[in-house]
Amino acid sequence: MLAWFRRRRRHRILEDPFPEALRKALHRDAALWRVLSDEERRRLEDDLRVFMAERTWEPCGGLDLTQERKALIAALACVLTLGRSVDAFGHVRTILVYPDRYMAPEAEEDDLGVVTESLEDREGEAWERGQVVLSWADLRQDARNLNGRNLVLHEFAHQLDLLDFLAAARPVDAGERDTHARWARVLTQTHALLNELDQKGRRDPVLDTYGAEDASETFAVATEAFFERPRRLGQFHPDLYRVLSEYYNQDPAARMEQESGGTGERGQETVQIKAKDVKKKSRRKSAKVRDFNK
Ligand SMILES: [Zn+2]
Repeated sequence: MLAWFRRRRRHRILEDPFPEALRKALHRDAALWRVLSDEERRRLEDDLRVFMAERTWEPCGGLDLTQERKALIAALACVLTLGRSVDAFGHVRTILVYPDRYMAPEAEEDDLGVVTESLEDREGEAWERGQVVLSWADLRQDARNLNGRNLVLHEFAHQLDLLDFLAAARPVDAGERDTHARWARVLTQTHALLNELDQKGRRDPVLDTYGAEDASETFAVATEAFFERPRRLGQFHPDLYRVLSEYYNQDPAARMEQESGGTGERGQETVQIKAKDVKKKSRRKSAKVRDFNK
């Protein structure tokens, strides 16, 4: 019965033609929107309207959260599910948007177990209970060009976490089990590589160093690169590209005529997905300052 209500509600949402003003705004503000095919854009226009209607939006800090702004966030999130179903975000209930970075309490535990509490500024968070927090200034800046950094893709990738997917999946046959084992292996290897580079003070040619934090962050930064710099990712990390291509059921390299920009340091962003991550969190390195000039 619930499914019937949802179908009917979605049907109503999609009855009207897509607003031309939103289409123009997306074309202007979202570099990813411009590289999609006409068919993909049509699909995205439907998905993003459903996505917008089925979430609770909470403007914070006096932000004017207009339809245009919601549409930009929804469009970028729904790019992730173009090869799947927008229902993959069914568990995401609330999206909080601040005008800019916001302050949040942070507890750090040192090797002796001494916990120091402080405030740090953040640009985004993804919570297990279906909450995403975003800084409008950061997400808008990221949306404008394809440089491998995209706050919305990053936080919503956490909501679709490949590791969670693998933990919840029940492979039906040996082939599927092998595929899942390969996905997990490639992700773990990439995390180890980023960690090694980070220890040596070096950087990967395409993946953000922030991915060295843990495998969830590796997946999130790899997702940003996969959609924004797919050719470069395929060139330097062909196995990772293949895994993401299978998981997202998309081949963004095929749609990309050109890629621009360089990698940068991700700033003060945190993810708190599971209880197990609380331990990881305490080991987290001090947050890096994100450099917008890169
Ligand atoms: Zn993250």
